[in-house]
Amino acid sequence: MNKIIRCIECNALYVATPYDQTPEYVRDDMRDDVHRQYCSEYREAEKNDYQVFFHEHRGHALENLSVIENSFYSEGPYFDPHRILYFETTNGKETFLIKRWRRSVLEPVHYDVVPAKLEVLMTVDIQQSDLTKQLRHEMSEPSVTPEKLNRFIAILQDEARKIDPIRCAAEGIEVHEANIVFVPLAEDQIARILDKSRSIFTPEELTRLERFIRDNAEYNGVMTFLIKKSAVFHPENLKEPLAN
Ligand SMILES: [Zn+2]
Repeated sequence: MNKIIRCIECNALYVATPYDQTPEYVRDDMRDDVHRQYCSEYREAEKNDYQVFFHEHRGHALENLSVIENSFYSEGPYFDPHRILYFETTNGKETFLIKRWRRSVLEPVHYDVVPAKLEVLMTVDIQQSDLTKQLRHEMSEPSVTPEKLNRFIAILQDEARKIDPIRCAAEGIEVHEANIVFVPLAEDQIARILDKSRSIFTPEELTRLERFIRDNAEYNGVMTFLIKKSAVFHPENLKEPLAN
């Protein structure tokens, strides 16, 4: 993250981008090249923001904020350029929640201080719908009864309840959505699931089931657990958008 400056009097932010200072470091004979290399229109806009901010807040007390690690929160698909991002910063004494957002892809991003605390809640789930479909498909030749498959799903749900979402979210994988984390199965989880399945399935079915589990236990396979994050803002009457 780039340097963040807050005007203490106005609570306004300036987030420096690497482009801001570029012209100052460029020798005159190199300017033409640099202008061609970067999109000069974009850079000039950033440069103007910098000048406008310091002009508007001339004589005001300013402070630097640093970003608090692992405090980023957003929802929705990564490809969405309008995805709103929240993160926490500190001046060493107080923390500030910052929102990064944009009206359209044609405009630069905005940064605002949000007068709130952001609490991230996490729930653990299994991929029940996709898992059931794939199980029925792959365990159909020869067919395993739906009753047995439902009992297997119940075993997996039981295993999901043992998961500590805070610890596992850090080890999980985000694929398409910023607030959904896939958690691959660990070897001890696979062993427990198979052990509990022994009383339900025949040895032949169990062999197929183990192959199914191992084939789908990694990355975002249907056997992986899902951690869903959701945000609560405090005070709760504050209506903060999570998407544009
Ligand atoms: Zn100011």
